[in-house]
Amino acid sequence: MRGSSPRQSYLKRRRKSRPYVCHCCNREMPFCWTCRCGFEICQECMQENFWGMSCNGITWQCPDCGALNGFGNQ
Ligand SMILES: [Zn+2]
Ligand SMILES: [Zn+2]
Repeated sequence: MRGSSPRQSYLKRRRKSRPYVCHCCNREMPFCWTCRCGFEICQECMQENFWGMSCNGITWQCPDCGALNGFGNQ
């Protein structure tokens, strides 16, 4: 049964309407904090892990790549 698979001729470029997927709880979220490496974490998980991810309340550290990201800076 080969040859009947639909071709994906266009790329998924709908960034704006694409839902975020939290890398912590794996749920789709309307908003996630994102890192440049692609890591995404939802508000809920961020709050749960706040003590481990932010030491000053101004920036949070990506657990994946270790980069510092600012709150409200995206
Ligand atoms: Zn989450
Ligand atoms: Zn990162």
